[in-house]
Amino acid sequence: MKYVSILGSTGSIGTQALEVIANNKNLLKAQIIAANTNDKLLEQQIEYFKPKTAVLVDKKAADRLVSRYRGSTTILCGEEGLMEAASDPSIHTVLTAMVGFVGLKPTLAAIEAKKDIALANKETLVAAGEIVMNEAKKNNVKILPVDSEHSAIFQCLQGQHSHQVKRIILTASGGPFRGKSKNELKNITTEDCLAHPNWAMGKKITVDSATLANKGLEAIEAKWLFDLKYSQIQISVHPQSIIHSMVEYNDGSILAQLGQPDMKLPIQYALTYPERLKNPFPKLDFKNMKDLTFEQPDKNTFQCLSLALAAGRIAGTMPCVFNAANEVAVYAFLENKINFLNISEVIREVMRNHKRIKNPSLEDIFETDNKARITALKIIENIYLEKHSK
Ligand code: MG
Repeated sequence: MKYVSILGSTGSIGTQALEVIANNKNLLKAQIIAANTNDKLLEQQIEYFKPKTAVLVDKKAADRLVSRYRGSTTILCGEEGLMEAASDPSIHTVLTAMVGFVGLKPTLAAIEAKKDIALANKETLVAAGEIVMNEAKKNNVKILPVDSEHSAIFQCLQGQHSHQVKRIILTASGGPFRGKSKNELKNITTEDCLAHPNWAMGKKITVDSATLANKGLEAIEAKWLFDLKYSQIQISVHPQSIIHSMVEYNDGSILAQLGQPDMKLPIQYALTYPERLKNPFPKLDFKNMKDLTFEQPDKNTFQCLSLALAAGRIAGTMPCVFNAANEVAVYAFLENKINFLNISEVIREVMRNHKRIKNPSLEDIFETDNKARITALKIIENIYLEKHSK
């Protein structure tokens, strides 16, 4: 039996991970579940999965749950609770499914406690890829990708020699605004963004998919996970989201992983690796399959992608800055404080204001993240004031 701790159990990845666990009750146990504020859903998950411990990071939400819960699961709260969820001695694997930079501390705590990581929190690798990968190596811990593209690449690398990889082809759906011009993107609403054609996801990643920031974050994630140079990462827009990514080898052979756009498959593979278990999830049927098409990403219209790739190549603290500015700008967009195209403008400005540290310590990363957020908020305030003074 593998004991799993799910950090972010009420989010999109977390709930799907619990479906995977419910399908494999004799192999997987949701030993600890942790959420931010959603005490109602967490309570339902406690009732069904009977974990040893459940955590609510938000103190008020934890108080609400504690005041009505009478069962035997231990309820913890705050950041300490989250750190305990990441490092509890009874855990084998930690699924990191929280959104954003807040995932970094618990991920490092889990690695130090020698837990394998099923990594769904890409921002952690973007902000501190070198530190996280070095810690994983030092502690002899596996980092198993949950992101569908990285799971595909990981699967295509099985049984192969990684030094014979020529490049990876990271596929992108292109998001809901593929083919649109900059002009057409000016008046995009949050609702337009949240209608993604292929994948049902949380709000932050849905906006990231619409701006293509997500693909930039994934390129940086891939660089660290698979020890690649940026020149070895090619991005191809594949609107059907059937090929989840590919690996090209030195001899010209390309291996691909195909499947329905359904996160439960990569989640299951990360939790049960190297086993491939039967499941009731929807399967691909070539009889009903139509065209698979590919095109170049429009980096000129979708500037968040080019900025992310630039940040990756500049390296040091710059990817951390890209990530912080993007997180702040996306939430400002979701609150209608800035428009869709402002997201990349905010990121560019914050990057321009930053003096890169080449080999940052963990303290440098936290300080950089904090400063970049403050700069981003100032820029957003200026945009907002300018818009409303007209
Ligand atoms: Mg992905």
